[in-house]
Amino acid sequence: MEIKQVGVVGAGQMGNGIAHVMALAGYDVVLSDVQQEALDTALERIEKNMSRQAGRGTITEEQMQEALARIRPSLDVADVGPSDLIIESATENEEIKNKIIEGLLPHLGENTIVTSNTSSISITRLASRTDRPEKFMGFHFMNPVPLMQLVELIRGIATDEDTYNACLGVVERLGKTAASAEDFPAFIVNRILIPMINEACYTLYEGVGNVASIDNAMKLGANHPMGPLELADFIGLDTCLAIMNVLHDGLADTKYRPCPLLTKYVEAGWLGKKAGRGFYDYRGETPVPTR
Ligand code: NAD
Repeated sequence: MEIKQVGVVGAGQMGNGIAHVMALAGYDVVLSDVQQEALDTALERIEKNMSRQAGRGTITEEQMQEALARIRPSLDVADVGPSDLIIESATENEEIKNKIIEGLLPHLGENTIVTSNTSSISITRLASRTDRPEKFMGFHFMNPVPLMQLVELIRGIATDEDTYNACLGVVERLGKTAASAEDFPAFIVNRILIPMINEACYTLYEGVGNVASIDNAMKLGANHPMGPLELADFIGLDTCLAIMNVLHDGLADTKYRPCPLLTKYVEAGWLGKKAGRGFYDYRGETPVPTR
């Protein structure tokens, strides 16, 4: 299976990073979203991030221009259909993902591999909504995509070996490292990471520490490069909450109950860095803790 064109559905924080690394690796990219604003922001961000790489000398100006020319934005999901590989990277919501899959089905090429960058939703269940569960799997990047080395590859129950190997080949061409994970809620990284973030939210909720003391404690006390609340803002609090709900529902264990304070922040629209406010307020010069 030769992969030449990659379709990315959803041009948010992750979608723009995926388009960025795919185009630099030489793939033709169709990047789609339902919002023109998301596409505009994504293209701006890709250009800015590539310029930074060119400034540092990690890529040449020519590589940057060629890569930018390989990215075609589109508001119509049908344009993504004929790609050799599709990576769905829209909002972490199963209903939205199912609708996207439904919209893609009539436009898929015969051999198109369909994958999802979902952080937590069952790959087997998403695959069952397609006409090709054997050509469906999880392709889970880490944020920020251009910098993070890992990609989790998740087989659904029906994923065939050719599909897995084709995706593994793409990860290798990106110069990244794959970790194979079984299809259980939140896979490996988020099964461990997001409950830690949720526990940090409880620590804040119960008044054990404030935002700054919790983040400093984990940075200086556990040698984490970012504090858990800073990291939550970076991931997106809506995504963190969605993952906790998937863990809670999927594993039916009360230890995964989402912290009410996390829910409250999401209800307020304080979704983290992407919304300008989360556990920190990003609207000024420097981030200010909100508690
Ligand atoms: P985001 O909120 O930044 O972007 C989501 C994008 O999806 C938005 O631009 C939105 O307009 C678009 N969208 C919504 N409905 C759509 C539709 N029907 N068709 C096309 N586009 C649609 O979210 P994100 O952080 O980029 O997350 C996207 C996916 O990546 C999620 O599944 C998330 O779990 C996963 N993920 C996120 C992270 C992270 O750290 N944020 C890491 C790994 C994986």
